[in-house]
Amino acid sequence: MTTEESTTSKNRKRKRQRNPKPSKEELIETTPKNQNNKKSQRDTKVQQHGGSSASSKRPKSSNFLDALRERLSGGQFRMLNEKLYTCSGKEALDYFKEDPEMFDMYHTGYQQQMSNWPELPVNSIINWLLSKSSSLVVADFGCGDARIAKSVKNKVFSFDLVSKNPSVIACDMSNTSLESSSVDVTVFCLSLMGTNYSSYIKEAHRVLRPSGMLLIAEVKSRFDPNNGGADPKDFVKAVCDLGFTSVLKDFSNKMFILFHFKKKEQVNSNQKIIKWPELKACLYKRR
Ligand code: SAH
Repeated sequence: MTTEESTTSKNRKRKRQRNPKPSKEELIETTPKNQNNKKSQRDTKVQQHGGSSASSKRPKSSNFLDALRERLSGGQFRMLNEKLYTCSGKEALDYFKEDPEMFDMYHTGYQQQMSNWPELPVNSIINWLLSKSSSLVVADFGCGDARIAKSVKNKVFSFDLVSKNPSVIACDMSNTSLESSSVDVTVFCLSLMGTNYSSYIKEAHRVLRPSGMLLIAEVKSRFDPNNGGADPKDFVKAVCDLGFTSVLKDFSNKMFILFHFKKKEQVNSNQKIIKWPELKACLYKRR
């Protein structure tokens, strides 16, 4: 490298340090490769956040600090997200018990991510519930900000690792306080995160009454066998072996897939060994 090149690159480096780019996260492999929609995504974001003019009018120093803060919290979000996908529910519960602020950090990053999705899976689930009787009792496993409970008239039990409002029950959802056969609908919306995800589905099976429904929405890339994801057929087979019938598989959305299962009336007394496919972690990278 010549001195000139090296100086230029040093200058560039310095310039970058002075003007850190705000960190934007990208869902690895799930954001459509054809980035023609980048502009439309940006436009959507602008609409959702009320336009960019407010931030461009801010003084420079404030822009710099905002960018720095965003970069730091983006990094923490990626770290927490990876942790949740690669540890057990019990470990995640212990982690957030020790540091509940990290839960807020995670959810700020999560909401930021979701603002890039054209359609939210939780809304599909809410619409499904709204089309059914409001007398159905619902259990929302990994409820986040408990949007389902806020949007429907049904009785909803909302579970998450940390309770940010009194209606949310803090627990590891492999072990809820619900009675067996006591609810009509169980929901996992982007929440099959732990390495022990099968124990969450077993818990849902326990608390569901016969013919009760299990609704699962998950990130599409986790079920893309050509990209290291699970084969959806293996996943459906495992859930059915547990004691469900498959009612719906919807692959039409770009970002997430939806599964609906119905709990079998009769529990099979021949306990099969169930082969649960590994669901790959859904990681985000900086862009
Ligand atoms: N269902 C919500 C939030 C999805 S984010 C929505 O669609 O908006 C996934 C949520 O699952 C997080 O809030 C996370 O804390 C929760 N979660 C992950 N593992 C959990 C576990 N073992 N027990 C309870 N909640 C869990």
